[in-house]
Amino acid sequence: MKEKPAGSPTPEEKELDPTGKASADRNVSQIVRKVFAFTAQHGGFGMQTIDALHEKVPPSICKMSGNCCFSIRMYSIEYHRIITYLCENFSVDEITEFIRRTLDPSDRIARYGEDVRYRCVFLHPETKKCRIYHARPFMCRAFGHGFFGQVECPHVAVATPTTTEHYVGVSGRVASVSEQFHVATDEGLEPMEAFPFEFWLRRAIDGSEKALDWFQETHFYKKYTNRDRSAR
Ligand code: SF4
Repeated sequence: MKEKPAGSPTPEEKELDPTGKASADRNVSQIVRKVFAFTAQHGGFGMQTIDALHEKVPPSICKMSGNCCFSIRMYSIEYHRIITYLCENFSVDEITEFIRRTLDPSDRIARYGEDVRYRCVFLHPETKKCRIYHARPFMCRAFGHGFFGQVECPHVAVATPTTTEHYVGVSGRVASVSEQFHVATDEGLEPMEAFPFEFWLRRAIDGSEKALDWFQETHFYKKYTNRDRSAR
């Protein structure tokens, strides 16, 4: 018997749901299950390690203007930490909405100076608070310390300064427990560990090849190949 393609409605379902709404909802729930299963399989360890490494970055004082909360690059272990945090702290409907908005960033596109970027999917649109604060990635924690070679945001201050050596040491350890992919540049394939949440989610759903194809069409990639390697 010919197998029904995954996610396509049966004739009975089509009759019950001619608009396809229920099938679309089912597809989203299939995607959510896939995302959970991927983290259960590939990210089930290392959560305490990443929490301990995150703690090594002294927190900055953020006035929560939300100005600088754009989608940033993170390590694979941090992606799994966030998915685990979502499972523990949000309803399935809320997680479904995070995933939907990650895959469709149309309501998150915003300007930052000359750049067009995605607003971070975890930024609360009204309160401007981070909705995953305890699981926020390394780059958010380091923001405000001046490691990115500029005063990144006038609303962020550092309570306990730390050194660039410390930052490089901790980020190196986070990278060493994370995955690496090779990205095409003018100088050939180059190893890269930090990708945006959007990449990691696509990788869990569609596999690495498609996720890398997507990445190479984005502003994240353009910044990377422009040699602005610290770009958020
Ligand atoms: S994870 Fe939180 S702190 Fe980091 S950019 Fe998103 S909203 Fe801001």
